[in-house]
Amino acid sequence: MNMRTIYDLPLSKAEEMLAGYGQKPYRAKQLYNWLYRKRALSFAEMSDLPAALTQQLAEVYCTMPVTLLDKQVARDRTAKYLFELSDGSTIETVLMHFNFGKSVCVSSQVGCNMGCAFCASGLLKKQRDLTAGEMVGQIMYIQKELDAEGERVDNVVVMGTGEPFDNYDNVLDFCSIINSDHGLSIGARHITISTCGIVPSIRRFAEGHYQYNLAISLHAPNDELRRELMPVDRAYPLDELMDALRSYSEDNHRRLTFEYILLKGVNDSDEHAVQLADLIRGMNAYVNLIPYNEVDENGFKTTDERTSLRFYDLIMKHGVKATLRSKHGDDIDAACGQLRARHERNRE
Ligand code: SAH
Repeated sequence: MNMRTIYDLPLSKAEEMLAGYGQKPYRAKQLYNWLYRKRALSFAEMSDLPAALTQQLAEVYCTMPVTLLDKQVARDRTAKYLFELSDGSTIETVLMHFNFGKSVCVSSQVGCNMGCAFCASGLLKKQRDLTAGEMVGQIMYIQKELDAEGERVDNVVVMGTGEPFDNYDNVLDFCSIINSDHGLSIGARHITISTCGIVPSIRRFAEGHYQYNLAISLHAPNDELRRELMPVDRAYPLDELMDALRSYSEDNHRRLTFEYILLKGVNDSDEHAVQLADLIRGMNAYVNLIPYNEVDENGFKTTDERTSLRFYDLIMKHGVKATLRSKHGDDIDAACGQLRARHERNRE
């Protein structure tokens, strides 16, 4: 059955919805308490809400919008979840255990249309946007698992399948729901949205003065190469992108993260490192160098460790801060979209 999930509603929209049932605004906080603090999965157990109301809600809304189809756990405990949605679509979510806490990587769309050459998500075109509640569901499913261990989701990154800034309103609703003090209260600085560089959405985000972190998938320091790897560069070339990012970062006093996957022989030369440093130097930003998770279908290879370190040293020497990320879950289908792509192939 295709029911809406109650997780779709930010607190203000929950208040409006409940007003439609003749309820006072404080009822929305009670509802949030049941959903996000007590992690209730049925309306019937919400004992301080009027029984007539919980019955009405149960007729219109479901709670958990995802069901588990498959789960792979790597040696380093990175866990990849394959979920099914109410319409039969499938999405992936990843849980990573860092020493600074547990991070969940959520998907924002079913498939993706950005067409980045190296990415497994793009193997399956976008079917639709996820609703805010379908993103919240990914967090709540994993949070309920972690409850058994007395643990919590500390950090959320919107870096799974999909382009969050191609689903702007739902993604921002999602952030507001998980950030709410009446719910999970995941701090805004613990929530990161990653975009391939959709300039109008970056400008809109800047105007909203949100405290969420922004990460940019750069992956190339010049338009010629970036266009080959990321079709989005044709619509929004680097000068426009950097201009929007500079004004976002300056107006909001926020530090930016640039993600840069190292692809062997493609974007990892000394010249690329210097170009990259020249592009970013002077901005309140740092570069996160990411080892590439190889995908069988496309032929891109991971840069070896020595070259990665050399690249890292060079950009640091040229005045740009960087981190070299270690690999997670590389003994499972951890690359974005890999698990789902395999599953969908098996279905055919
Ligand atoms: N569309 C958004 C968010 C999803 S992709 C974006 O582009 O930022 C999240 C990050 O994973 C991006 O930086 C993306 O380029 C990177 N990525 C995609 N495939 C990868 C792979 N096989 N190995 C490592 N990183 C990958």
